[in-house]
Amino acid sequence: MSPLEVRGLRKRYGELEVVCGVDLEIAAGECFGLLGPNGAGKTTTLKLCLGLIDPDAGEIRLLGNEVPARARQARARVGVVPQFDSLDPDFSVAENLVVYGRYFGLKDREIEPRIPLLLAFAGLAGRAGAKIQTLSGGMKRRLTLARALVNDPQLLFMDEPTTGLDPQARHLIWERLRQLTLEGRTLLLTTHFMEEAERLCARVAIMDHGRIIVQGSPRELIARHIESQVVEVHGPGIEAWSARAASLALRTERAGETIFCYASDVEPVLATLRGQAELVYLHRPANLEDVFLKLTGRDLRD
Ligand code: ADP
Repeated sequence: MSPLEVRGLRKRYGELEVVCGVDLEIAAGECFGLLGPNGAGKTTTLKLCLGLIDPDAGEIRLLGNEVPARARQARARVGVVPQFDSLDPDFSVAENLVVYGRYFGLKDREIEPRIPLLLAFAGLAGRAGAKIQTLSGGMKRRLTLARALVNDPQLLFMDEPTTGLDPQARHLIWERLRQLTLEGRTLLLTTHFMEEAERLCARVAIMDHGRIIVQGSPRELIARHIESQVVEVHGPGIEAWSARAASLALRTERAGETIFCYASDVEPVLATLRGQAELVYLHRPANLEDVFLKLTGRDLRD
């Protein structure tokens, strides 16, 4: 059974329909990434799936329960890492776990023996008595992840789990998320980091303006939607070089001062760059970010 099935999901705020007919089916034990620019409708989709807001239309089955009708029952086996940490600053690290467990009807004596395990998982062993204000951003994020595991969830919803973290903290979270999938849990995460999605997610959906525009494994999406090779070029003389590159008749995009050339054979591009000492270039395989930018555009979204 799929832990989460969504059909024809719609949600309107005033004039604006922000979720416009979303279909999703997540496989048990997979890590699924919901990607999209700001305002695409990702957070609203997650909240609808959790039954925190009511849809205008559509069907949601979460761990076998109809949502919103049986959202409470479904949420008993779901963990949530919200976009912004909502730890209680008046309580210690351990108290935050106990208080959160009470929402699920867990007795303090049921949670307390699990606290050392949860804190070890979060890399917070020995911090049980620490006040929340004394934790770094990375520690708070890890505690929020530990808190989401209090009810031993089958499925975890994570809204931008690594936003604002430094690379070290991000790598640690990645390692922990992989561990959760190895334990057989299902993960649904949103992220703005395509590298993160490519590393962690078996499948991703790219969402824009309330609609899912493509779904598949990162590798499939790269193979299906983009040329295999990329050359990024910038530096003094880029204008003159750009005029020459245009004659090569390959797909190019410009972002700020950098020109991106896409082709399955970039040798002709590289030939024009040899001996151009002032131009800086990078030749690399295409990645999920290239697909994302091609499909959602390079304009800023706020
Ligand atoms: P994302 O998570 O992809 O950045 P959101 O789901 O947060 O997108 O938002 C999608 C759109 O819905 C945005 O235009 C946002 O301003 C709007 N929106 C979200 N929540 C509300 C709300 N409670 N009332 C009105 N508009 C909202």
